[in-house]
Amino acid sequence: MARSVLSSAHFQNEEAAFAYVEARLWPEGPNCPKCGATDEHIGKLNGKTTRLGLYKCYACTKPFTVRIGTIFEGSHLPLHLWLQVIHLMCASKKGVSTRQIQRMLECSMKTAWFLTHRIREAMKDGGIGPLGGEGMVLEADTTYIGGKEKNKHVGKRTRGNIGGVGKLIVHSIVERDGRVRSHHIPRVNGETLRPILEAHADKKSALMTDTAGGYMQIGREFARHEMVDHGKDEYVRGDAYSNTVEGYFSILKRGLTGVYHSVSEAHLHRYLAEFDFRHSNREKLGTDDVSRADLALLGVKGKRLAYRTVS
Ligand SMILES: [Zn+2]
Repeated sequence: MARSVLSSAHFQNEEAAFAYVEARLWPEGPNCPKCGATDEHIGKLNGKTTRLGLYKCYACTKPFTVRIGTIFEGSHLPLHLWLQVIHLMCASKKGVSTRQIQRMLECSMKTAWFLTHRIREAMKDGGIGPLGGEGMVLEADTTYIGGKEKNKHVGKRTRGNIGGVGKLIVHSIVERDGRVRSHHIPRVNGETLRPILEAHADKKSALMTDTAGGYMQIGREFARHEMVDHGKDEYVRGDAYSNTVEGYFSILKRGLTGVYHSVSEAHLHRYLAEFDFRHSNREKLGTDDVSRADLALLGVKGKRLAYRTVS
């Protein structure tokens, strides 16, 4: 990470960090998280001993800061450090390990874990409408993530998936030149694939998959369904290919094994949200533009930052 990027004021100075976040979450001025009051009902508290960024709502008499109701709420970590972590997680293609964050912030592993998982929660797109649409192509496929089977206790080995024994199965739907949405599924069949495609893929799209049986029936409901038979060494047939989703899987796998080493089943969905987020926002995120890198998180009036419980 370039030093020049993290030397921006909002990464280094708490007052600048508040101004930065307020400008994005409250583009039309502060509003009370309790009662929604705005404008003349809100006053900034400026006393020498007053906490930074503190406002008072004269409608409901409650004091508040921009952190309330967001992923920053209830954390003692200074806002500028939160912004550093968000920036690093947005800008590093393969992610940043909890230990790296812990060393950087000189905080406990527990704090680092809490921060990164809250940010991952904010990265979830919440399934805002299905992917694809008329004239668009979706690629859907599954991949297997996980450690060496021989190291696992017999009882913990997964059964029933040839080639995927003992591993976690991830299903992704990718728009060519667009967004991606990934899910952890227990096995690959119509029962697991249908609800995901129903919820996340617009059937007006063309659907490209391999020949997994689970796609057959629902595939017929799409504008077009092309299957590439990898078993017959068939990889490209006209526009029927799955290179996009496979490219995504390669980043996901290198990231999950290289940076995160072992990702437990319970937390896999959060890491998937993080990798999906970076892929879906890769143009906005850019590579070296200071302000763009975290806009995708902070630039939508705090919708993504809205507080969700990390359990
Ligand atoms: Zn109020």
